[in-house]
Amino acid sequence: MTDFTMEKGADGVAVITWDVKAKSMNVLTRAAYALVDQLVEDALADPSVKGIVLTSGKETFAGGMDLNTLATISAEAGDDPAQALFDFTMGGHQILRKLERAGMDPKTNKGGKPVAVAITGTCAGIGTEIALACHRRFMADNPKAKIGLPEILVGLFPGGGGTTRYSRMVGAMAAAPVLLEGKMLDPKAAKAAGLIDEVVAPDQLLVRAREWVLSATDAEIVKPWDQKGWKMPGGAPYHPAGFMTFVGASAMINGKTKGVYPAAKALLSAVYEGALVDFDTALRIEARWFTHILMHPSSSAMIRSLFLNKEALEKGANRPALPAEQVTKLGVIGAGMMGAGIAYVSANAGIEVVLIDATLEAAERGRAHAEGLLDKGMKRGKVSPEKKTQVLDRILATTDYAALAGCDLIVEAVFEDVAVKAEVTRKVLAAVGPDCIFATNTSTLPIGELAKASDRPEQFIGIHFFSPVDKMALVEIIRGAKTGDRAVAKALDYVRQIRKTPIVVQDARFFYANRCILPYVNEGIRMVAEGVSPALIENAAKLMGMPLGPLQLIDETSIDLGVKIARATKAAMGDDYPDDAVDAVVFWMAEQGRLGRKAKAGFYAYDDAGKRIGLWDGLAAKYPLAAAQPDLTQVQHRLMFVQTLEAVRALEQGVLTDIREGDVGAILGWGFAPWSGGPFSWFDMLGAPYAAARCDELAAEHGPRFACPALLREMADKGQSFYGRFGVKPQAA
Ligand code: NAD
Repeated sequence: MTDFTMEKGADGVAVITWDVKAKSMNVLTRAAYALVDQLVEDALADPSVKGIVLTSGKETFAGGMDLNTLATISAEAGDDPAQALFDFTMGGHQILRKLERAGMDPKTNKGGKPVAVAITGTCAGIGTEIALACHRRFMADNPKAKIGLPEILVGLFPGGGGTTRYSRMVGAMAAAPVLLEGKMLDPKAAKAAGLIDEVVAPDQLLVRAREWVLSATDAEIVKPWDQKGWKMPGGAPYHPAGFMTFVGASAMINGKTKGVYPAAKALLSAVYEGALVDFDTALRIEARWFTHILMHPSSSAMIRSLFLNKEALEKGANRPALPAEQVTKLGVIGAGMMGAGIAYVSANAGIEVVLIDATLEAAERGRAHAEGLLDKGMKRGKVSPEKKTQVLDRILATTDYAALAGCDLIVEAVFEDVAVKAEVTRKVLAAVGPDCIFATNTSTLPIGELAKASDRPEQFIGIHFFSPVDKMALVEIIRGAKTGDRAVAKALDYVRQIRKTPIVVQDARFFYANRCILPYVNEGIRMVAEGVSPALIENAAKLMGMPLGPLQLIDETSIDLGVKIARATKAAMGDDYPDDAVDAVVFWMAEQGRLGRKAKAGFYAYDDAGKRIGLWDGLAAKYPLAAAQPDLTQVQHRLMFVQTLEAVRALEQGVLTDIREGDVGAILGWGFAPWSGGPFSWFDMLGAPYAAARCDELAAEHGPRFACPALLREMADKGQSFYGRFGVKPQAA
């Protein structure tokens, strides 16, 4: 174990360097924590050492805790994982407390050894928590580097002392953006926020840290909370100002999270309760809440989907074992909303792009879209003028198919029409080399059908982006019946190049994401027709953690698109079509010209600037409210089960082959209740027997769309869970 090494200098400064050789970023494991403890102990005991500088051997400082470590601790703990996690957390507190007290006399606070941290670059999670325990923090002046505590974003909160230390440093209110929102700050902003003390030129980083260590006085290394008479900045809970802060924070958290994210509440509780007691007791309180969160099914599901499995998919968990396929020249056909976005994200990732449309004007409009996004980035200081030029120079807007020569991947994003797509496919194939992979961005047309236009169907695949392309992280890769492994590998490598998250699904109606999201929207509309209050429908969805209620969602995507999809689906399904009750509402809305947000009129009313001002009150004239309204849980279960049952059916039918993809894809693709970890994680929380029984009740009350899939029934009978039956075990760290 050489994750940390120590070098004692002739000047009396011991430099401890963090450098995990096998990884591009330092992450902390159990063994490494023990090692740093031993090194600190050694440095404190050695009379020739005057102080310590902690730094990193890499350009970045640290990525955080290896989350597999936490999963492994709990998996290995037998019947008492909570105790094992609590003990591990308290062990960490002791190590950092030792560093912070640095051998000083407990009574006089004198005689300790100064500890500085020299933060070379990006620093997150436990890396930041270790830095907060040091006496002074220096960070290299690199505007691209970020420091922060993003744990809340994966369903945790900083449990390595960061919550207690940072809230005591700056006060609960000022700590909120870093602790509660997980904001990562560049060095200057981090200094303003009190996360670090000095921003230093990179080549002066170690020099400055050493100088400080050698000159620091006893008083400079005592933390405020270890001094007599310390008071919480901004006020502790029973102080008038503190009282206001905590009441406000509690309201804000509940407003933002709708009460479904336990980590945010636990974080606030740790700060609130910790502020009432001494520092060491506060750390113990933090450890208890942290353990509570680690044991909470929502947090473990969020970590599993949003961190471990998302990363595994991005690294190619389901990639065929073939040589790497970097894309060097991409052809994008159709420079509309999707094509322009695809061209932009690809050029941004360094890929040469040929952007083709039927007219030069349309192609150039697509390129101008990329320019608009770059300009926005420049306004926010994220894009330099050079970067803008470089990215735009990579996009050639043209009508000339000959420019596609040398392309190794094509993404077609022309109108959703089989004949138009077939014609374009033939023109492309005449212009590109024999190895080029052809992908279509269709949202509804079967890949197998579109592949008929190609004489190389094994090189034909679906790469389905979500709108807006520059923001949405998920890409669905669709394997047609004849699609070969090389096409899948290439598509996965391309998605990795553009830094998005892929799932690979089989060719079936609406693939995966749209297959689940359409029933969600439809269920909301069906309830409108039944006379359920639209406010109840929308709030029920939000209180389950869905980012948008079903009525807002169709307003956003447009009601005429809903009409188009309904007509096409009905034509394809014939007598089996189940959604006439939904169509009655949607078609009527379209007839009224209420086409959604773009028309400033839909299920919601909008002001002249297009801002939503409330649910449209005209709806009640056509669909009066029923005298008896369903209870909240019933509405929530209808909205959740229609989505999750589609996910189960997709798995049962082999459209999905990996539940990890089902869960990650749901959260990233349509914002499925992130607190739940995804549809399969949610069903695991409910338990298969309860879920199956609920299906029976819902099916009896509302129809066969809620019928329990055979797979779920079997799992209920056998007492199985999805992750127990189909999951991949965490790897030991
Ligand atoms: P769009 O209408 O904005 O753009 C289509 C573009 O294709 C237009 O610029 C049009 O001029 C061009 N075009 C049409 N026929 C052409 C031809 N023969 N040769 C060259 N260019 C041609 O549509 P969009 O929303 O960007 O959708 C494009 C594709 O992406 C469709 O297949 C759609 O189903 C799919 N898709 C759309 C979304 C979405 O949210 N809009 C999401 C995922 C996938």
